[in-house]
Amino acid sequence: MTMRIAFNKAPVIETTIHYLTRVLNGRLAGDGAFTAQCSSWMETRFDAARVLLTTSGSHALDMTAHLCGVQPGDEVIMASYTFSSTANAFAGLGAKIVFVDIRPDTMNIDESLIEEAITARTKVIVPMHYAGVACEMDTITEIARRHGLLVVEDAAQGVMSTYKGRALGTIGDYGCYSFHETKNYSMGEGGALLIRDPSAIPKAEVIREKGTNRSRFFRGEIDKYSWVDWGSSYLPSEINAAYLWSQLEVADEINHIRLARWQQYYEALLPLERDGLIALPSIPKDCIHNAHMFYLKVANENVQSALINHLKKAGIAAVFHYVPLHSSEAGRKFGRFHGEDRYTTTESSRLIRMPMFYSLSSQEVMEVVASIYDYFENERN
Ligand SMILES: *Cc1c(COP(=O)(O)O)cnc(C)c1O
Repeated sequence: MTMRIAFNKAPVIETTIHYLTRVLNGRLAGDGAFTAQCSSWMETRFDAARVLLTTSGSHALDMTAHLCGVQPGDEVIMASYTFSSTANAFAGLGAKIVFVDIRPDTMNIDESLIEEAITARTKVIVPMHYAGVACEMDTITEIARRHGLLVVEDAAQGVMSTYKGRALGTIGDYGCYSFHETKNYSMGEGGALLIRDPSAIPKAEVIREKGTNRSRFFRGEIDKYSWVDWGSSYLPSEINAAYLWSQLEVADEINHIRLARWQQYYEALLPLERDGLIALPSIPKDCIHNAHMFYLKVANENVQSALINHLKKAGIAAVFHYVPLHSSEAGRKFGRFHGEDRYTTTESSRLIRMPMFYSLSSQEVMEVVASIYDYFENERN
């Protein structure tokens, strides 16, 4: 069934077609002019030592597992309420995933539960910033420092968000962005790896360039390149980079529009929250978010599917989100849950994501809101 109001539409900017045409008439392989423009724009804007465009957010995460030197038997701490890629990166190198519970207010990892999950084998903490709202990074980096652990931010959803004024993805040792078509800025498929410590840059470049030092060769630092370490092909085509560049040039405008739509949902739905029918997202005071997602929570799983169906009948695509990893087949194989699952399962089964994208009109937001009111009014009668 095609929906009258889609869940997501990737942005198309006026310049997109021009830039794509330019690429098709020139260099298509990666690390050309558009890739360089995207990387340096992000390095400046987000204040990162180096930003490397990648073929996906998942691949950026995979790279960080190699950069952290993860070995079989190491443990990696993360929330169970996340995408499979957050865990895959580390499970692929033989690490055990240790899941801890989330905070119900942000759906992010509960920072107060991390320390008790640490063992002698723990190597990395992976905060994932759900909906582009930051995890409590001061606490997390302080725990990591005290225990000698690395921090990898899964900031796939957090492009343009900040925590205490710092861009998400630049606070931990490594950060990962996704430019999948469902994210705020799109390459179709794509992502980026953000590196904080300049000394980690050469190894990351080698991993991204099939294990060779070709990046140094292109900069004229060496006169031939060779195979120096393990690597794969993690650099995206210029086609993807050109599409991304058309959006980064107007990143503030895209962000502004999304935030306006988010705010409109929020204000229009406040009365339902006051009536105790729904819960709205909360943004901690140190966080500036990017309106990656507008979600609300209903009473329970039954209301969740009933409301999604109600919206679907009205031609509106609203969706649930993650099945917690620890309760999935691979999650049981690669991980274990530490402590009590107080919120992960219950909160995830209450959550519904509403349509949210750059070209979503304010009129369409009002239609979605009206349909939500409609549902609760029918319920009352
Ligand atoms: C989208 C996403 C990813 C994966 O990004 P891809 O670019 O699709 O590989 C990883 N983690 C989280 C939390 C995501 O939302």
